[in-house]
Amino acid sequence: MTPGLPRLDRLIRARAIHSMTGEVYRSAGLLGAGIAAVSADPDGLDDLAGDGTVITDAGDLTLLPAFADSHEHLMEASRNTLLVPVDRARSVAEFTAIVAAAARAAAPGAWILTSMAWHESGLAENRLPTGAELDEAAPGHPVLARRGGHLAVASTAALTAAGVGPGTPDPPGGKFGRRPDGRPDGVLEGGAVWQVAAFAPAATRADLVAGLGRGSAAYAALGVGTIREAMISPAELAAYQDAAELGALSVRVRPLIRVGNELTADAAVALIDGLGARSGSGDDWLRIWGLKFVMDGGVEGGALEQPYADDATHSGHLNWDPAVMTEVCSHAVGLGWRIGTHAAGDRAVRTVLDVYEAVAAAVAGPGPLPPWTLVVEHALLSDPAQRKRVVRGGFGVTVQHPLLWNMGSEMLQTWGADRTRQVSPLDEWLAAGADLAVGTDMARPFNPMLNVWGMATRGTKAAGVQGPEHAIGVATALELYTMGTARLNHDQDRLGSITPGKLADLVAYPADPMTADVDDLPSLTPAFTIVGGRVVHDPGGRLGPASA
Ligand SMILES: [Zn+2]
Repeated sequence: MTPGLPRLDRLIRARAIHSMTGEVYRSAGLLGAGIAAVSADPDGLDDLAGDGTVITDAGDLTLLPAFADSHEHLMEASRNTLLVPVDRARSVAEFTAIVAAAARAAAPGAWILTSMAWHESGLAENRLPTGAELDEAAPGHPVLARRGGHLAVASTAALTAAGVGPGTPDPPGGKFGRRPDGRPDGVLEGGAVWQVAAFAPAATRADLVAGLGRGSAAYAALGVGTIREAMISPAELAAYQDAAELGALSVRVRPLIRVGNELTADAAVALIDGLGARSGSGDDWLRIWGLKFVMDGGVEGGALEQPYADDATHSGHLNWDPAVMTEVCSHAVGLGWRIGTHAAGDRAVRTVLDVYEAVAAAVAGPGPLPPWTLVVEHALLSDPAQRKRVVRGGFGVTVQHPLLWNMGSEMLQTWGADRTRQVSPLDEWLAAGADLAVGTDMARPFNPMLNVWGMATRGTKAAGVQGPEHAIGVATALELYTMGTARLNHDQDRLGSITPGKLADLVAYPADPMTADVDDLPSLTPAFTIVGGRVVHDPGGRLGPASA
């Protein structure tokens, strides 16, 4: 026994423990929320064990730091768990049957709100359900079936509840689908979604807390320990705070609060001043990362330097006037806020860099801004000059291969083959020397090992391999997915590696991802996950009695 050291709470002996800073250990000792000691010898920590130490012999398992997702929508994924699960449907008939079952279980006349995580391409008929089909499935119930953020189908009762009729004009930036006689048919686009959704009951904070509990547990079960929550409202921040205080979160959260482009400069400044906090507020479980701006759309609305491949008259849209955004961001950074801005297309990336360079010049003190103060989110398309500007400016970048994995086919159609191959070139960002972190942006639990496979192969769901020359090694992908995001979150002294003194966020796998065949990675799932010394996933009971 080493005198003076308290006994470990937990001792894990494993086949390999990759620190992510170059060392490989064989045993790790946990005490409280942290890593107390590590050893290259499986028995090297035995004299730190006492009667109360839970010992796990895991010679068949390899440990890594738990994954840290640089950009994901946990709130949206959690809210979907509260909604009618039409994302399970594989046909329109299944879709309406799920709606009908929910209506039978609901109070008469209650709203039926579906999960947003579905797409008609997942239905055998490859079409939206109609408003009339929703009427038939849930007679007398307002039904709102939102599909992602920009489209929905509403039942007649939902349209009536929202006061939408034949004479209702289309809202700005939106459209009501109409029958030949002009009556709305239930399909809602853009602003029309919000016009109807405003009449649906909002989830209560208690509901959101329950959803966050379920949602965060699903991510922890895939080995995720930290999520940088990419966009919430101030009210949703309160729900996160409730969940954290109740111990309901299974992952750490680093939220970004949305500053909407519909605001004037004065209104945006007032919103920021009214938050009464700034980046870094909170604790190890819930700490505010910063503010979120959205500069352009996605695959359908991303602002491109060259026209779309399928529409020569279209090159996407920019949401912010750069002068207004510069004014708002300069104010925020002056107060100590960090900023992440969604920029999908190369024209959006260039415009965000114009803004960021102006902000850095406006608020520069004696030295440059701290790293990871101004961050470009996604940068799906970028050119070498833009990547140089990111590095020269000291800005950060978050990259999510699953966007290419999931939407490669749509990108081929709208952006064309040449641009799709160039999406998210991690190798180019690394060669340029950029501050880089990786994640998912899928708004649903996504296996990090499938993501690592994607980064290492450039493989996609349905568009084959896109730009294999931009692949990076598995070890590099793992580093960006742990230490990279820890740096982005200013957590690098607390998280990101298996190092004594850091928090005990660990994931164990039955194969060693560093040496496994890369094509075996997508089917690899954790044996257990520990966050802050707490067992958050252990389906096989490998860790023995749960620690406090
Ligand atoms: Zn996002």
